[in-house]
Amino acid sequence: MQPRDSSRAAEHPEPSREGPVRTCVGCRGRASRSVLVRVAVVDGRAVLDTAKTLPGRGAWLHPGDDCIELALRRRTIGRALRAPDVDLSALTVR
Ligand SMILES: [Zn+2]
Repeated sequence: MQPRDSSRAAEHPEPSREGPVRTCVGCRGRASRSVLVRVAVVDGRAVLDTAKTLPGRGAWLHPGDDCIELALRRRTIGRALRAPDVDLSALTVR
C-alpha cells in the first residue's frame, strides 16, 4: 500500500465506458450491461428485450442458450422480474 498522488485522484471519473454491471440470472456471472440481453415483461409474458428499451423491471442474461436454460431451470427470471407467474414460454430454447 503506497500513498497515491492525490492530484490524480480522478483517474476513473466515470463508472466505466462499458456501462453498469449486471448479474446474469442464469449463471450468476457479472458482466457489463452492454454484453447482456435484457428480459422484460410485456402483457404477462417474459420477452427478450434486445433493444433494452422496454419499461419496467428487467432480468439480465448472457446471450446464449446455456444461461437461458439455467435461468428457466432455476426459475430466477420470475424472481428477478418480481413476477413469479410470468409466462416464460417465449424464452424457451428450441
Ligand atoms: Zn450467464
